[in-house]
Amino acid sequence: MYDPRSLKAEEFINHDEILETLRYADENKDNLELIDSIIEKARKRKGLNHREASVLLVCEDKERLDVLYSLAKEIKNDFYGNRIVMFAPLYLSNYCVNGCVYCPYHQKNKHIARKKLSQEEIRREVIALEDMGHKRLALETGEDPVNSPIEYVLESIKTIYSIKHKNGAVRRVNVNIAATSVENYRKLKEAGIGTYILFQETYHKESYEKLHPTGPKHDYAYHTEAMDRAMEGGIDDVGLGVLFGLELYRYEFAGLLMHAEHLEAVHGVGPHTISVPRIKRADDINPDDFDNGISDEVFLKLIALIRIAVPYTGMIISTRENKSVRERALELGISQISGASRTSVGGYAEEDRDEEDSSQFDVSDNRSLDEVVSWLMRNGHIPSFCTACYREGRTGDRFMSLCKSGQIQNCCHPNALMTLKEYLMDYASLETRNIGEALIEKELENIPKENVKNITKERLERIEKGERDFRF
Ligand code: SAM
Repeated sequence: MYDPRSLKAEEFINHDEILETLRYADENKDNLELIDSIIEKARKRKGLNHREASVLLVCEDKERLDVLYSLAKEIKNDFYGNRIVMFAPLYLSNYCVNGCVYCPYHQKNKHIARKKLSQEEIRREVIALEDMGHKRLALETGEDPVNSPIEYVLESIKTIYSIKHKNGAVRRVNVNIAATSVENYRKLKEAGIGTYILFQETYHKESYEKLHPTGPKHDYAYHTEAMDRAMEGGIDDVGLGVLFGLELYRYEFAGLLMHAEHLEAVHGVGPHTISVPRIKRADDINPDDFDNGISDEVFLKLIALIRIAVPYTGMIISTRENKSVRERALELGISQISGASRTSVGGYAEEDRDEEDSSQFDVSDNRSLDEVVSWLMRNGHIPSFCTACYREGRTGDRFMSLCKSGQIQNCCHPNALMTLKEYLMDYASLETRNIGEALIEKELENIPKENVKNITKERLERIEKGERDFRF
């Protein structure tokens, strides 16, 4: 009973359809004629369905894989240019009533330090983040109706938006909290959130139930149908993801694409972002206890094929990955990365960071934001601190049509340059600033419309003189 338009989890993520897809992919693994026709379709930049993309995932033909990797890069550049959007996670609380077996916040973990930030502590965290240059945050909490009810999350969002420290401001707050009700999603929308992010963890229902043995998150349908409720509550930018390592990656890949197809079919808008987290070592978690870990090669292949299958989506990679994997992933379709992340509650303002560890997982990229920004530029990317789209009401289908129209170069590109300029003026080291100024000079020439280019030049001069927060 596979039906992408259904609102029932087991019908739009249909187990039999996934098994059938995997069988179809295996049968056509060496069918080069079919593979070539799928590649031809992918070149049209309109995406691929889960069956077509699953065939490419089992393809081992070196020549074709090289073609696919180049295509992923081209598609990323067509839709998002060479811009990379920057963000940081902010952990508010690690109290949790769930039993997720891969997460150290699970309720039975008695030795992890439990913390919940007060509004004053949130202020300190936000000031520390603003002092680095961050403008966009992803809020994270464990699920706990008593310690972090929706009212606490809403109050925290208000606090975050209210803090203006020197030239700093958080201009977009994305939220990654447990699946909730339409009413609560409506409240989050009213609080002015950007994207609502929720990782599916795994699309495999039976495994999902085993991996979430206790707590509200145990309910597979409630979790899987969360994005439909979020959209019903008025949030039209939603972010998907699976935690790679829990289940067979081919199963997850097909499920993820079916989820994207479902959102398009029902709401007319696919996922605003797709994240690609891999399971990491954490307080009482050993990733080797999970059988389905994937190699870097498979991980990178997944990234390239998600980019090709869902060309318009933003793709996020976090500091779970190290510098060299991130460097390669950036060449295959990633469009957003976090920098200088702390995954502990209070981790940005804390002076003695080792005192009581409350972190969710170990990070593999410990560089400062300045180092990440400089590295991106040296590798030909433009770090962007832009938050304009959602502040201009370009969300959901309005963002997607901008993205699909190719006009992004007259809008996102100048916005990226102006926000990078702010970063260089306010936070960068001298070396980073020099690299950045030269990059802005060069990239100004890539703004197609002459009048937009002139306005951008004029605004860059005004930023130099102290004005802030321009946007198209
Ligand atoms: N509690 C919220 C929920 O239930 O969806 C989400 C917030 S949680 C702080 C963010 C994500 O971190 C989870 O959805 C999970 O995919 C990921 N995560 C949990 N444990 C992890 C681990 N050991 N390594 C890597 N990522 C992990």
